[in-house]
Amino acid sequence: MTALSIRALSKRYANLEVLKGIDLDIESGEFTVLVGPSGCGKSTLLNIVAGLDRASAGTVEIGGRVVNDVPPKDRDIAMVFQSYALYPSMTVRQNITFGMECRHVPKAEQEKAVANVAKLLQIEPLLGRKPSQLSGGQRQRVAMGRALVRDPLLFLFDEPLSNLDAKLRVEMRMEIKRLHQRIGATIIYVTHDQIEAMTMATRIAVMHRGVVQQFADPDTVYRYPANLFVARFMGSPP
Ligand code: ADP
Ligand code: MG
Repeated sequence: MTALSIRALSKRYANLEVLKGIDLDIESGEFTVLVGPSGCGKSTLLNIVAGLDRASAGTVEIGGRVVNDVPPKDRDIAMVFQSYALYPSMTVRQNITFGMECRHVPKAEQEKAVANVAKLLQIEPLLGRKPSQLSGGQRQRVAMGRALVRDPLLFLFDEPLSNLDAKLRVEMRMEIKRLHQRIGATIIYVTHDQIEAMTMATRIAVMHRGVVQQFADPDTVYRYPANLFVARFMGSPP
């Protein structure tokens, strides 16, 4: 099944054309990494998929439904940002259940969902703590927990590890990868880090100046770069 289908998507701010006719089809279960230099339009693209920003032209389909006019909360997605945006006054448990609380999910069901996610992310001992009592890596896990309890069709990650130190980043990469394999999620993961892209993706979309330059599996991108930009950016052999 196609989880996400993007057609002729453009975005302009005044006279700056940030996205220039993007076409992208992502199958369910894929781990797609959107990689490109800072300012190439990655976050803009993700925000439009999430409904946090509007396209200037083109369509976005999630799970076979055109969502251009659907508000973020009614899209079957969950997003994890670079800044974790946890609610500081709430405990970890409350942070994770907040969305379910808003949707009036029965308490017993909430408990079950929290228990599952906490186990998966190994954050059971942290459920009673406040965000200020957590390390960066722990906060990141809680932010993922909040996304996981939604059980969405599509996970959107925007540079979720860039606030972490190098060692933790490598650990978390592996953890997210394992998570993807265990729950069979569909993930779009934005990064400017080529190594992250090569190690995590089932397919990589290399972006430059608002255009997807190549969309292929890591091996193909590395061995058969579509153009000079991709070759240079992905560090392919000459
Ligand atoms: P990336 O996430 O790849 O670093 P962004 O999608 O954040 O890139 O930004 C792409 C381009 O769009 C940049 O040149 C940025 O300055 C511009 N841009 C982003 N948001 C706005 C905005 N609200 N108004 C004007 N320009 C913006
Ligand atoms: Mg960005």
